[in-house]
Amino acid sequence: MNYQNLFSEIAVEAQKIEDSGAVATYIPELGNIDPNKFGIHLTTLDQRRYGLGDFDEKFSIQSISKVLSLTLAFELEGEKLWSRVGIEPSGTPFNSLVQLEYENGIPRNPLINAGALVICDILVSRLENPRKDLIEFVRQLSGDGNLDYCRRIAESEKKTSYKNAALINLMKDFGNINNDIEVVLDLYFHLCSIELSCKDLTQVFLYLAANGINPLTGEKVTSISNSKRINAIMQLCGFYDEAGEFAYKVGLPGKSGVGGGIIAIHPGKYCVAVWSPKLNQKGNSHKGMKVLEFLTTRTQSSIF
Ligand code: GLN
Repeated sequence: MNYQNLFSEIAVEAQKIEDSGAVATYIPELGNIDPNKFGIHLTTLDQRRYGLGDFDEKFSIQSISKVLSLTLAFELEGEKLWSRVGIEPSGTPFNSLVQLEYENGIPRNPLINAGALVICDILVSRLENPRKDLIEFVRQLSGDGNLDYCRRIAESEKKTSYKNAALINLMKDFGNINNDIEVVLDLYFHLCSIELSCKDLTQVFLYLAANGINPLTGEKVTSISNSKRINAIMQLCGFYDEAGEFAYKVGLPGKSGVGGGIIAIHPGKYCVAVWSPKLNQKGNSHKGMKVLEFLTTRTQSSIF
């Protein structure tokens, strides 16, 4: 595949996409982003790299990082994990409370907020130094030892995060949160505050295209089986109540964040990341989804 030509086509295509959607403002700091930013980057398994636009600029990856916390917790807990959180699509918005009550405080999956909070609770229980150990894990994946949380974003979210507080309180009442609520929320806000560029993202998540191996170091991040399973969960749950739409139009496992980023994995081939801050009604990047649809259609490289 000639990705260089493809990226020239994407540059033209991106201009044609209707400019709709809105930047997330419910986390005040996210509202300060220039809505017109646009970047895309693709890294192949054999380390060829292609970028366009603002691909080298760091942005708030938000819920994309839930795949990283899941990977770490899955390594620590193994299959036991699934007694605390499910693996089914929710069909509801990422911060919805409705299912949680009638399903007795067990979140549908680890990629909605409730599920990611349970994962953070597990990390608080299992890691000696949860905040430090988690960022070290991401540093190793990225090869960037200076990478850090963005305290400003974490603080901003903490001040306005009434829904997440409601979710975790409900789960605590059902007995599905073992640690202090404030400690778990603090880890969750920091997790969501990580800033990476599209280029960084494709490096960090390449292990999911490589059977769980970090291609930078050759080290095992997770097992072949866990890598397959995490991809499956992303496919079914990575876009909340728009997971079907993403599978239908793009056809790759992926994960979005309210910072406007999306990553998508082609197992055995590549990892691609796109950033465009304006979100659609479901909280996923409007232009990002369209550009990825163009990419997989043009290259005929969906997994289906
Ligand atoms: N930090 C955000 C929240 O908890 C993450 C949501 C997202 O990116 N979908 O609401």
